[in-house]
Amino acid sequence: MIAETISVGTEILLGNIINTNAAYLAEQYARLGISSYYQTVVGDNEERIRESVKLALSRSELVVLSGGLGPTQDDITKDVVAGLLGREMELNEAAALKIREFFAAKGKRMSTNNLRQAMVVKDALVLENGNGLAPGVLVELTKSEIAAVGKKGLKKQLIMMLPGPPEELTNIWEQQAVPYLQKLSGQVILSSMVKICGRSESEVAELLDDLIRKGGGGVTVAPYAKTGEVHVRVTAGAEDEKAAKKLLKPVIKEIKSRLGDSVYTTHEETTLEQAVADLLKANNLTVTTAESCTGGLIAARLINVPGASEIFKFGCITYSNKAKRKIIGVKRKTLDRYGAVSEQVVREMAEGAVDFTKADVAVAVSGLAGPDGGTEEKPVGLVYIGVNVCGTISVKEYRFKGNRMKIRNSAAACALIQLRHCILEYYSRMTFGEQENG
Ligand code: ATP
Ligand code: MG
Repeated sequence: MIAETISVGTEILLGNIINTNAAYLAEQYARLGISSYYQTVVGDNEERIRESVKLALSRSELVVLSGGLGPTQDDITKDVVAGLLGREMELNEAAALKIREFFAAKGKRMSTNNLRQAMVVKDALVLENGNGLAPGVLVELTKSEIAAVGKKGLKKQLIMMLPGPPEELTNIWEQQAVPYLQKLSGQVILSSMVKICGRSESEVAELLDDLIRKGGGGVTVAPYAKTGEVHVRVTAGAEDEKAAKKLLKPVIKEIKSRLGDSVYTTHEETTLEQAVADLLKANNLTVTTAESCTGGLIAARLINVPGASEIFKFGCITYSNKAKRKIIGVKRKTLDRYGAVSEQVVREMAEGAVDFTKADVAVAVSGLAGPDGGTEEKPVGLVYIGVNVCGTISVKEYRFKGNRMKIRNSAAACALIQLRHCILEYYSRMTFGEQENG
């Protein structure tokens, strides 16, 4: 199936609100194995909404409109669609009752405008809104409507209208639209996200080239780049869940075997910081941070993880040279000789942070986030990251691009990745050493 989204709202066009609904829907299409080639943003203008819907119908089977389902005069999405199809509007009794009850419960007077939310396109399916008053509306175009305004030759064409507030849109999508679409396709679509760290997108694309291009037997494989990470969505469709799982499993296994330890999870909800926290927990380790240019970003990401108190007790933001000296014991001599942004200083930070906090593991960062202060020898974007795992310290040099925030975020992501890598390496060396010895 091919779907496209039309986001309705002058506020979006003006940049007053960010179009998160379009991003959400795009991700949902991918999860359901639905292709999508176009997105539109259009203001609250009758003629332009109509033109956008017509254009979308000329090329997509499912047209999803978001926004403009509210009670005010500028909420015209449903009227425009009804007008385009030549259908009447009718009051949906269930939705009207909900609105009346809502106002009665609040003891507020209801204006006739409020009932506009219960008006739906005639003969449409009404999608209940679990988080608000405006139901979604789903129109299955008739044969003659497809012939008149749709894409010639299509047997099925759909227009779905969803309210703009994100919690309402996602509620209707998850509870009503997804089951409907699954049933329609006669297929169960399952997908999994293989999350990879420490490798570039091009490296991943090259290693998975054949899978991405042809898919692995009815399975699609698509990579997406994130800061410091690459996520690969693997999607399979089959007649039932069991069959879909059976299709997914070998492809995920193959990806893991090609990428090894770089895969940190195959679970949608698991973040990099969660994976790092789990690894620390599994090995009974506590971690501390000594952050300069990242200014607490690494600690904040680790503390995002529920239950972080088990692995994180105490972190240090040592931004000035004095803080580096006084708190985590970096030597004045080292600072004078090599400068704060240097391998040597970061090594001492990683060492000193463990001495100071008594954590088992430390991650230390020092770098130039810019925009000023760069030199030819030490340009903006130069960052050193050091990790100390139970006394084994390693430091790596990075050269990031972008503005101050981008450099700081990249450094925080790479610090978590390096931390994970060093812990894995430490334990694999230990196991290997044990085997050699005994
Ligand atoms: P309402 O009943 O609130 O008027 P509506 O369906 O008419 O709902 P809009 O009026 O278009 O929707 O938008 C209402 C609010 O929903 C906006 O102010 C904004 O906060 C949010 N919203 C609308 N469209 C989007 C979008 N594409 N992405 C994210 N948020 C959105
Ligand atoms: Mg509105």
